[in-house]
Amino acid sequence: MPQRIALVFVLLISSFYASAQTDAELDSKSKEGQEMQAGAKNNVGIIRVKDSIYMIKGRGGNIGVCVGENGVFMIDDKFPETSSSVIQKLNTITSKPIELLVNTHHHGDHTGGNAYMASSGALIFSQENARKRILATYTNAAKKIYDQKIDSIIERQGSKISSEEVRKNEMRSAEKVIGTLEEFVDIPNGALPVVTFPKNISFYYNNEKIEVTHTPRAHTDGDAMVYFTKSNVLHTGDAYISNGYPFIDAKNGGSFSGYMDGLNKILSIADKDTKIIPGHGEIASIEDVKYLISMFRFLKGQIKYQIVAKKTEDEVVAMRELTKEYDDKGFGDNFITTESFIRTLYKELSK
Ligand SMILES: [Zn+2]
Repeated sequence: MPQRIALVFVLLISSFYASAQTDAELDSKSKEGQEMQAGAKNNVGIIRVKDSIYMIKGRGGNIGVCVGENGVFMIDDKFPETSSSVIQKLNTITSKPIELLVNTHHHGDHTGGNAYMASSGALIFSQENARKRILATYTNAAKKIYDQKIDSIIERQGSKISSEEVRKNEMRSAEKVIGTLEEFVDIPNGALPVVTFPKNISFYYNNEKIEVTHTPRAHTDGDAMVYFTKSNVLHTGDAYISNGYPFIDAKNGGSFSGYMDGLNKILSIADKDTKIIPGHGEIASIEDVKYLISMFRFLKGQIKYQIVAKKTEDEVVAMRELTKEYDDKGFGDNFITTESFIRTLYKELSK
């Protein structure tokens, strides 16, 4: 290329990038641009897993869908803001309504769309602890705001709180202004499961026998896995994820030993042909689950050894070689970092 033409070419290319960048920046600053970006973030994708079972990917937990002549059976429903995109994608494969919906556990990235789906006719099921925890999420959030309001009313009245007794009286009079906590909690219609089960429940729907089984104290204390016996597809919820170290939510009843039991339960349900829809990540196989089990066994042995050798939590976290094989595969790159995973294991194993 002659020098002058090359120079013009470079100038053209760089001015193209400069203007493209400015447009993008302007776009992201305008309200419309921001809405477009948020909209794109909430767009979901749908892929066929096997037969009439589909997976809806994108932000939040993976949704499982079984379509057929009865209607739509759905597992989890992501966030409120992804709901309209979920329905849009669903409409590309069926015109039937969502009749039955199972929540695999209480977390908001799996149950946030409950109210939306219930308003379009879905009957929602969950393990009983999962329902309690969805309810608690709303109550706790409301309680924080409620307490602040009570405090500010008492403050405004200029009361001197000299004793517990005086504070109780002040609270009672403040309650008269804003109502009781029960009245204050505002739970969207349909956000809570309508039917709960303690252990297992089966559905006979769309020519499938669908077995839902509770996995105690795994990711949380309200986990359920959903197995389509005819299609041989298993949705594990977050009791198995294929994109990194698992989140063991100890504050909500999850445990390392229960998580391990859950993984072993997957082995008892699945065979080499089973398609596994994980709570997060791509479709997996029994081999992927076996790999996670071997990782759990290895780390359990190593960390226990270090605990016996009187190593502190920080010292074990600093032993990067322990998790090198998994970190190299990208296990620590997503929601749960290597450090937080090791800390969770250390805490439980040192009990
Ligand atoms: Zn979760």
